[in-house]
Amino acid sequence: MNDFFDAHSHLPDAGSSGPRVVCGTCESDWEAVLAHAASNARVIPMLGLHPWFVAEASPGWAPRLESLLRGHRAGVGECGLDFTRRETDRTAQAAAFRTQLRLAHDLHRPLAMHVVRAWGRLIDLLREEGVPPAGAMIHAFAGSPETAGTLQAMGVFLSFSSDLLQPDRRKLRASLRATAAGHLLLETDGTANLLPVLEGAAEIRGMTLEDLAAQTWENGRRCFKELLA
Ligand SMILES: [Zn+2]
Repeated sequence: MNDFFDAHSHLPDAGSSGPRVVCGTCESDWEAVLAHAASNARVIPMLGLHPWFVAEASPGWAPRLESLLRGHRAGVGECGLDFTRRETDRTAQAAAFRTQLRLAHDLHRPLAMHVVRAWGRLIDLLREEGVPPAGAMIHAFAGSPETAGTLQAMGVFLSFSSDLLQPDRRKLRASLRATAAGHLLLETDGTANLLPVLEGAAEIRGMTLEDLAAQTWENGRRCFKELLA
């Protein structure tokens, strides 16, 4: 059995067989994500500029992204803020993220976010621009239980990866427990089978694997409903 909703993956798309969200991260993979989704009905395509690739993006990336999104049924992402490295240009990251946040609003598409060590800036930007009403999620969520509470109250879905299973990630497991059932997603992040993540998350939350699989499937359908039949 491997038919679960995988809320975040990448090319090459090898792990899941169930419905899965496959995100582009830079200009050079957008067409490939669209082509892959065109040949596989269970792939939900997303196109975005990942914060790691902002510095090397071409000057015309934003109009090109907009035109691809207008021409295809795809969401926006992955995009966001990653302040792990001190030398990254945080202003440029925030500007690229704001552009994509506005595209999600204007085109009424779901948004997939990558956020690391930038929670305050993220929440400010979401308050300024508003959370896109077609659905918004943070992939591989690694914030605190308090941040999880703030983001859920704003209507953001939180997706957890196999990081949960690492013995030293106790705070992450507390954040999983602090996430309401209706806001929870699970993902492979393109790395592996979803089953161990589901098993681990079910144990941490004290629920059956079947109930958690059904809940995350339902949440995935709600978060990405604009891209589903
Ligand atoms: Zn990713």
